[in-house]
Amino acid sequence: VFKDFITGFPKESDMEVVTTDKVRLKIPEGSTAVLLKNLYLSCDPYMRWRMTMHDEPPCIPDFVPGSVVTGDGVGEVVDSSNPDFKVGDLVRGITGWEEYSLITAPKMLSKIRYTDVPLSYYTGVLGMPGLTAYAGFHEICSPKNGEYVFVSAASGAVGQLVGQFAKLMGCYVVGSAGSDEKVNLLKNKFGFDEAFNYKEEPDLNAALKRSFPEGIDIYFENVGGPMLDAVLSNMRKHGRIAMCGMISQYNLDKPEGVHNLFYLIAKSIRMEGFLVSDFIHKYPQFEEITAQYVKDGKINYVEDKVVGLENAPAALVGLFAGHNVGRQLVVVSHE
Ligand code: NDP
Repeated sequence: VFKDFITGFPKESDMEVVTTDKVRLKIPEGSTAVLLKNLYLSCDPYMRWRMTMHDEPPCIPDFVPGSVVTGDGVGEVVDSSNPDFKVGDLVRGITGWEEYSLITAPKMLSKIRYTDVPLSYYTGVLGMPGLTAYAGFHEICSPKNGEYVFVSAASGAVGQLVGQFAKLMGCYVVGSAGSDEKVNLLKNKFGFDEAFNYKEEPDLNAALKRSFPEGIDIYFENVGGPMLDAVLSNMRKHGRIAMCGMISQYNLDKPEGVHNLFYLIAKSIRMEGFLVSDFIHKYPQFEEITAQYVKDGKINYVEDKVVGLENAPAALVGLFAGHNVGRQLVVVSHE
């Protein structure tokens, strides 16, 4: 349960685990609701946005103090009065951080197509982060074979896939991450050409110059702040920057300024923000292609699982300290 709106870094104590017998587990008569047994819940940086009260929420509603946290997840239908879902269906979509969720308007749920891959992958490589990486890279970055690609937060839910999609396109790919363990994953598990630990680099500009002596064609932005400034001055002519996220800024009362925007003009760079929801229509194509990559072993995916709802608040908060190694998710119940 989300307690109350916050400022600054989120804390475990901003949420509490509540046991109640008051949850409605009966489908109201005459409704088209679905009762879900939640199996996997995903921890996503955007959930931090929902913990602050906005006059006009930017893209997704704020959490409601005193109510159950909601987010992406995977579950099994255990009761249904909706003609589109039957008992036993496995679904992905927006659900509650609880053992069972009564979904009264299941328009945000969709049936899972492939059951010959790990079901939890539908919170990651075959779910929202996967579509973010796929559409953000292919649609926003307009990649070409042989181009130089840089990805920040590169070992996370989105970043690890951006790097692998870029390698499949024949690009040269470098990633940054916040520990040597993550750098090792980038190079040895995800096939990045190079990687560096940004926390150990006293000069990000120098680190990028070392990795890209000829400059960067494509930057997939996940972090913002000083990294964005350093990247801007290392971009090549006609480069593209996909503005996916700026996690370094989400907990600051006053976001840091960006100082090198003039390079957008000087180097004719296209910088474009996007939301994964802009590309929902691409989901079927993405799911088919990416599931095949996974089955063929062309894409690896690393997950960081915690077991039990009682561990969910710490898992979510840990994203903002880089505790997760790969896609952070919560196992509520096994299939
Ligand atoms: P991750 O799995 O990458 O987890 C977050 C990671 O961010 C942490 O592990 C940490 O990795 C890094 N991080 C945390 N704080 C900082 C900081 N201050 N400076 C630099 N890095 C930091 O998350 P996702 O892959 O799910 O999300 C990545 C980005 O994509 C986020 O910005 C998110 O908001 C955005 N996003 C945007 C979407 C859209 O529709 N536009 C959809 C989904 C995600 P490390 O140890 O490497 O520092």
